[in-house]
Amino acid sequence: MIGERGKCDMEFFHLKHKSAEFLRNPEYAKTREGLIDLICRDCEFWKEDEHDYQCGAYKLLQFLLEKDVISVAEIVHAVCE
Ligand code: SF4
Repeated sequence: MIGERGKCDMEFFHLKHKSAEFLRNPEYAKTREGLIDLICRDCEFWKEDEHDYQCGAYKLLQFLLEKDVISVAEIVHAVCE
């Protein structure tokens, strides 16, 4: 979610819980299940039975990870700070 001043106010509980796994195996974040774990499971719109839906945020992060513009370690560290 976006807070009043445009800042993200999500807690990212799932991503924090999986942070060690993502840091141990960064390539996992480039797999379909890894992307869902990284992006979707903390999303307020996440539904266990709708894995085929991919929103713009999902596709943008997937693209940035594939192009190595951003690393999963950078994402995990930003979330865990
Ligand atoms: S595809 Fe987008 S809207 Fe759907 S759960 Fe993932 S991040 Fe949320």
